Amino acid sequence: VNEFELISKLTKSLPTNSWVVAGAGDDCAVLDSGQPGRYLLFKTDAVVQGIHFTEDADPVRVGHKALARCLSDIAAMAGRPIAALVTIALPKTFQTAYVEKLYEGMSNLARQHGVAIVGGETTTNPERVLISISLLGDVATDRCILRSGAKAGDALFVPGDLGGSISERHLHFEPRIKEAYWLAQNFPIHAMIDLSDGLAGDLRHILDATEVGAEIRAASVPVSRAAKLQAKLKPNGKTPLVAALTDGEDFELLFTAASKDAVALLDGWKKQFPHVHLTCIGKITAAHGLKIRDEHGVRELNVHGYTHFA
Ligand SMILES: [Mg+2]
Repeated sequence: VNEFELISKLTKSLPTNSWVVAGAGDDCAVLDSGQPGRYLLFKTDAVVQGIHFTEDADPVRVGHKALARCLSDIAAMAGRPIAALVTIALPKTFQTAYVEKLYEGMSNLARQHGVAIVGGETTTNPERVLISISLLGDVATDRCILRSGAKAGDALFVPGDLGGSISERHLHFEPRIKEAYWLAQNFPIHAMIDLSDGLAGDLRHILDATEVGAEIRAASVPVSRAAKLQAKLKPNGKTPLVAALTDGEDFELLFTAASKDAVALLDGWKKQFPHVHLTCIGKITAAHGLKIRDEHGVRELNVHGYTHFA
């Protein structure tokens, strides 16, 4: 089984209760604590040495990444992060300075976003460092944005550039908390996700949630400089466009809004966030499937995003 088949098997009959507004299957769980006008957001995520970072990666950046991934999921719901619990599993040979640096990276980012680190757990794990973070957030009930809700005719947007994250960006990205919050305050955003497994894979989650399709314009996909450089260094590897469509760990937002709002949204964004470009990369269609339009016409997009143990 691949990662998504396993998740769907495991999440089919999970216990639930009256707090659960949205359980497994979105970027965060959404809970109703009874506080009028607010939902709680709840998220957990882990990074593992050898999978999400290498042994020689700067531990300050590793700590940053571990928390930034969770923050990116809170951003994907247009939420506000509040408090984190941190579990670290360390090999018996660990060095105190290394762990302090992990915490330094996490704490710096947490302070930037007003997040409290309120506890956790330290344990051992043979050979590899593992960091697991649980993050609590909240959001106004009428501003919470799910993966579902995309409508045929919607424009499809992505900030920043895609692909090639592994060369550097995956350890340095800034979660789009304030951008997502601004979007939800100012425009009716229909559906949103953060890009962790690649545009092609994550867009399919939006499409599956509402049974719609999408058409991407190849020429509009914002390909990162890193993806172009990697293609140059490895001419037989992925083309820059395929890298932008399939590489994991971009941690950009992907969202849809009515096409009538597109111009105002792009203009407003430009004024608000002049250093992060926002691109309309295509549209949501009533016809199912994910298609790409290039100079040869429109065809089914057959590439997929990253998946663990496929
Ligand atoms: Mg996500």
